[in-house]
Amino acid sequence: MYNRVTPRIVDDLRAIVGEGNVRTDEEALEKYAHDETVGLWAQPEVVVFAHSAQEVAGVFRLAVRERIPVTPRGAGYGLSGGAVPVFGGIVLSTEKMNRILEIDKQNLMITVEPGVITGDIHRAVEAEGLFYPPDPASLDSCSIGGNIAEGAGGPRAVKYGTTKDYVCGLEAVLPSGDIITCGGKLVKNVTGYNLVQLLVGSEGTLAVVTRIILRLLPLPKYRVDLLVPYDDFQAAADTVSDIIAARILPATIEFMEQDSVLAAERLLQKTVPYDDAAAHLLIQLDGNRPEAVEGDFEAVGEICLAHGARDVLVAKDTRTRDRLWEARRAIVDALKHESPVNHMEDVVVPRAEIPALLRGIKEIARRHGVRIVCFGHAGDGNVHVNALKDALPDGEWQALVPVLTEEIYRLTLSLGGTLTGEHGVGATRRRYLPMALDPAQIALMRGIKEVFDPHHILNPGKIFP
Ligand SMILES: Cc1cc2nc3c(=O)[nH]c(=O)nc-3n(C[C@H](O)[C@H](O)[C@H](O)COP(=O)(O)OP(=O)(O)OC[C@H]3O[C@@H](n4cnc5c(N)ncnc54)[C@H](O)[C@@H]3O)c2cc1C
Repeated sequence: MYNRVTPRIVDDLRAIVGEGNVRTDEEALEKYAHDETVGLWAQPEVVVFAHSAQEVAGVFRLAVRERIPVTPRGAGYGLSGGAVPVFGGIVLSTEKMNRILEIDKQNLMITVEPGVITGDIHRAVEAEGLFYPPDPASLDSCSIGGNIAEGAGGPRAVKYGTTKDYVCGLEAVLPSGDIITCGGKLVKNVTGYNLVQLLVGSEGTLAVVTRIILRLLPLPKYRVDLLVPYDDFQAAADTVSDIIAARILPATIEFMEQDSVLAAERLLQKTVPYDDAAAHLLIQLDGNRPEAVEGDFEAVGEICLAHGARDVLVAKDTRTRDRLWEARRAIVDALKHESPVNHMEDVVVPRAEIPALLRGIKEIARRHGVRIVCFGHAGDGNVHVNALKDALPDGEWQALVPVLTEEIYRLTLSLGGTLTGEHGVGATRRRYLPMALDPAQIALMRGIKEVFDPHHILNPGKIFP
């Protein structure tokens, strides 16, 4: 189906991106064979580091001519195998395209290259009193290009939305080698189809993004973080839907059940207050008027206590706040330490269905006698569901994972939800796509892919069953 990368092709790649930007050594092939998805691995034949749209275009023209698959890669922190080259060929890394090109304070926009680490964008704009809200828990490791490709979310999606809500303009290279510029520093734009939003969340299957314009907000002046422990798992879940129903919009409502908190403590060697609680909520309120933030904080505190919260701990200073969030951000890694073999789902339901989702998942876990740990962005309906292999024999685990996955998806779909809220379909969920999308939609999506990539060289083996 595809051709192999020959020494002549490697030389051609060197001519496009320069001698030091092409690697075929074992160390590089091993490093770029995986992202953060547990159990998924496929070696590229060559790794190429691009510095410009023109270089990406050159790589694409060569790949089409030689019929070699190209897998774009940002920082390799994805959780659905999007950057894993399942058909071998070229991994095209954007990690050297890592410049912040401009912070435009007149238009409240930032222009960046795709390899910039998301946390660096936060720090750069916050130093200017500005705010880029999307905050994936991986923000100190993942790239903005990967965030665009995955449509990344984060805790603050409850109030501020996800990456898609901030992308105003993109430069992208099509598999044909054509370089397109869509959108711009524009708050409004209805000239033709919205190609910017088609590329957001397209998981590196339609084009490689080489320049990004993001909308910024003024940095909120006041912030309060609340850590709320519960003895009853279900009471914590019920609180989430009641806060939303009370028409209070916190910046975040994160849910962490006890196993996830204990795993984070063990990894970080630090304690979280009330670690004997069945579940914690981590709620952040922000705004520009202290009275408004305090008012919301009191109302939220009352709702929590009415649902039987043991306490409402308040973090107003950066040190206490960082300690709370450090534990939350460590959970994915901590669960990997707990059980190196595990399976993570990223389901999303309408927010009011969070209690039913969590109840249903506990029931699935009980029925199969397996440990399933839930945590995540409960305030926007997106829960990470981690099944842990623990001591289960390999064969039993391998047979169980597809059964659990299907049951979790069936439950989610029955509640009006869908398969993935932010981690993407990638290589790991593609066989389940027909559970969520009807044949007409999948055919439309395949048609779009065909228009962008008629030679099927860009990131094959992703999204489609
Ligand atoms: C500990 C941990 C916590 C996480 N928390 C969150 C979270 O809170 N929210 C969330 O949304 N995700 C989260 N993730 C998942 C992950 O970090 C995001 O999906 C992130 O957007 C991936 O960015 P990356 O640069 O690592 O992308 P990669 O893994 O390198 O690539 C991801 C996809 O993007 C494509 N791609 C990369 N760059 C480009 C480009 N320039 N043009 C076109 N396609 C491109 C790749 O082909 C691939 O399909 C977490 C992951 C970990 C390990």
